[in-house]
Amino acid sequence: MKRLKTAIMLLMLALWLAACSTKIPILAVQLSDDDGTNVAPITKSEIYEWADYANRTWEDAGYTIVFKGQSDIVKVRSTVLNTQPPDNAYDQWELYRIAGNYLASLLPPDRVPVYFRQKGSGGWSWGPGDTNYVSLPSYANTCIAKSEKAKSCPDGCCPNNTLFSHELGHYFGLAHTFTDTPCDQATLNNADGDRFGQLAGVSEDDITDTAPDPGAACAPTTSIQCKEGTVAVNGTGFNPPWRNIMSYHDCLPEQITPDQIKAIKYSLSHPWRSRLGKED
Ligand SMILES: [Zn+2]
Repeated sequence: MKRLKTAIMLLMLALWLAACSTKIPILAVQLSDDDGTNVAPITKSEIYEWADYANRTWEDAGYTIVFKGQSDIVKVRSTVLNTQPPDNAYDQWELYRIAGNYLASLLPPDRVPVYFRQKGSGGWSWGPGDTNYVSLPSYANTCIAKSEKAKSCPDGCCPNNTLFSHELGHYFGLAHTFTDTPCDQATLNNADGDRFGQLAGVSEDDITDTAPDPGAACAPTTSIQCKEGTVAVNGTGFNPPWRNIMSYHDCLPEQITPDQIKAIKYSLSHPWRSRLGKED
């Protein structure tokens, strides 16, 4: 009887949490080149997979990412949007941003436009007004060697299940938990914990409740990683936010901190995000 009562209470709590959750619908844009070739090889079930992984973290933060299936997929021909520019090709990145924002302006404002490319393996987004879409590679074009199940994947490389969750963080105004400081200059002061960030136009974290993070490139991959332990970098002991969605450590289950939740909420007051989930 006591177990039944507990089960009912847990069920009611789950229903209450679901009712409190803000729904964030997405619109998947399956890209191809201008002539219709090189169609992004993304499938409905892969988008569900990415949305499910995102919701494992985002529902705890009070948001449910909603993808309804085929009716939430549109096809668009654009060689520019279907191609990830090379790292230092700034003109091409700017062209992508202009074209991407133009397309976003033509799409329903109540959904997050998520562009799926055929070319490139990286994903990106940025805050309201700057980048009003998420650009992702196709699921099969991602690779994460550090995954807990990587050994069972071809070439020790699994699809990056948490990539969409991370890029959504950028879309809602979150910066990385780490900076680009070289490892031999990493200190607790310059690794994070400042109030500068995306809103100030620089790359550092803009919230204060993630621990200083020297970044995944500086923190060696050891058994301590993903067990939330301390790691020495440049002679300093760091305890980075191993599980944070905006880190590159890829430890599961991922987390969003209270300050990050505040930043997400703040971004929803921006005109480019304020109608999400609010249209019929
Ligand atoms: Zn990122």
